[in-house]
Amino acid sequence: MTTTTAEIDVRDKATGEIIGSAPVSSAVDVDRAVAELGRTQPDWVAVPATERAAILRRAATLLQRDTDRFARMLVREGGATTAKAEGEIGASILEFYQAAELATTALGEVIPSGQRGRMNIVERRPVGVVGLITAWNAPLHIALRVLAPAIALGNTVALKPAPETPFSGGLMIGELLDEAGLPAGVVEILTGGPAGQALVTHPAVDMIHFTGSEETGRRINVAAAPSLKRVALELGGNNPTVVLADADVELAARCGAEASFGHQGQVCIATGRHIVLSAVADEYTTRLAAHAAALTVGDPNAGQVDLGPMVSTRQVGKAQDMIARSVEMGAHVVEGGTATGTLMRPTVVRAVRPGMPLHDEEVFAPVAPITVVESVEEALDIVNGTRFGLAASVFGRDLDHAWSVADRIRTGMVHVNDVSAMHESHVPFGGRAASGLGDDLGGRANIDLLTERRWTSLQRTRQ
Ligand code: NAD
Repeated sequence: MTTTTAEIDVRDKATGEIIGSAPVSSAVDVDRAVAELGRTQPDWVAVPATERAAILRRAATLLQRDTDRFARMLVREGGATTAKAEGEIGASILEFYQAAELATTALGEVIPSGQRGRMNIVERRPVGVVGLITAWNAPLHIALRVLAPAIALGNTVALKPAPETPFSGGLMIGELLDEAGLPAGVVEILTGGPAGQALVTHPAVDMIHFTGSEETGRRINVAAAPSLKRVALELGGNNPTVVLADADVELAARCGAEASFGHQGQVCIATGRHIVLSAVADEYTTRLAAHAAALTVGDPNAGQVDLGPMVSTRQVGKAQDMIARSVEMGAHVVEGGTATGTLMRPTVVRAVRPGMPLHDEEVFAPVAPITVVESVEEALDIVNGTRFGLAASVFGRDLDHAWSVADRIRTGMVHVNDVSAMHESHVPFGGRAASGLGDDLGGRANIDLLTERRWTSLQRTRQ
């Protein structure tokens, strides 16, 4: 699909071994791909919706058939454990089925007119050419949660995966869609770093959908502004879990461990802050530390482990620096804290306070910072005291009380007595404030995200 000479090496995240290379798409590649996507889009939206749906269902079947192949790549280039890889593939298959439903769902509405004989139709039409820029931490699912509904609704898509995961996040998806019978020119895969910037400023790209860091999101929002294209950003989080005094502490600690250590904490909706009422703080710390200590860490290619590698030694170093600086400010490590190469032990840190790096910033590592509070009001001040607003959870046995606390949390998603790291493909997902911009994705929210309204009127009686 691309003509370019430069290549990026793709590494196994546990061993560092080079497992392949992917092209670095050039500005010329981007121009050619975008022109092709623009030419194809009117033909693609004219394809009967039932045929678009059938292609998406075939893609789901092929992904199911190829689960082992995709899982192996998610383990190697993505640093996933086998369980995480299989979970991601399952969620991705669901995205295809959800999108197939969307292709034939009711779009638009009829609105009564103030004029005799006039009918007002509000159509939902595809945005056009969508530039889709994605992160490495769940490369297959992050791509398909937007790509599948985008093409279901008649858009064409330029997919630019992260340089760390060009295969499972891009090139393998392209091959799968070809085999499913997607016509040429509906999806183009552009790999390497520079293509992202070229898509953002390209005048013929109608929309950018971006998943990645807050810093890059801000940069993209500014760079896209002059062309007035639509921008949707799914960014980082620093997600709180509040453990109330009447919580089932074992349930909270189990969910806290799952949400802080799953995929080595490299999950946007991971629990990044454990805000615990003092009455249960010691018990919660002990139980969370016990869960952390029981987890195995290792190379997922070599066998079953609970945690695999982090994406890079740089990312490990960043997390350890945040721990060290927080310890200098008064926090203390209760469990873990060590690392070998990209393998980092799940870590529990107590006495974390606002103002410390572990509290104020997204860690994106298997670290569970605990902040002890004396009252619900103090908990809420701390919970709402960062610029992030992605996900949260609250644990408490009195559901009225837990609900009233959840109600005052300013995030796009909040879960009572469950993990912050929760996703269902048919439920809208998204953050507020520094965690995201634009419409949510998932289920019927995808219609708002990936189509534009058009008022079309028909006059039958005017003279
Ligand atoms: P990143 O911002 O470094 O990179 C994301 C993508 O943007 C990559 O494809 C990269 O090549 C591209 N990119 C970088 N600079 C660009 C530019 N100037 N213009 C256009 N494209 C550019 O993020 P990352 O490290 O890959 O991902 C981790 C971050 O993603 C974390 O903060 C995590 O919380 C967030 N994330 C959010 C969600 C969500 O749904 N909210 C999901 C997964 C990850």
